[in-house]
Amino acid sequence: MKKIKFDIKKLKKLDKKKCFICKNQINKENIIYENNEIIAFLDLYPPTKGYILVATKKHIEEVTELSENEYLNLQKILFKISKAIKKAFNPKRIYILKTGDLVAHLHFHIMPIYNINNNFTDILLKKSIIKLSKEERKNITSEIKELIE
Ligand SMILES: [Zn+2]
Repeated sequence: MKKIKFDIKKLKKLDKKKCFICKNQINKENIIYENNEIIAFLDLYPPTKGYILVATKKHIEEVTELSENEYLNLQKILFKISKAIKKAFNPKRIYILKTGDLVAHLHFHIMPIYNINNNFTDILLKKSIIKLSKEERKNITSEIKELIE
């Protein structure tokens, strides 16, 4: 897949008050999984194939704001999606991370790693992203979606 240079500063300019998750700006075609509490979708600027964000529907910022059950349900979804990504694209590793620098709304990153010689921070900082057509995004979404058990 074609990699292109990316400048994360582009994302840093996002208005933090305009939370894109709450504003429901997630393209329906990129939704991998959804229930009453959780939504999972393809990252708009994916550094690797199958890079997924998993967010709570309510705007909270920390896992400590969830009940134990809500947290465990969220982890269950991360587990199921990770399994589906492994089956679909067979990455060498799958990293799961929660940050909150650019978008404070609670979300986890599921990061498929295909080349373990890659610098993890380069992926995290999105030094480059893969260029995907609308069609490719749709295919990645449905491939993962179909494999979620
Ligand atoms: Zn939000």
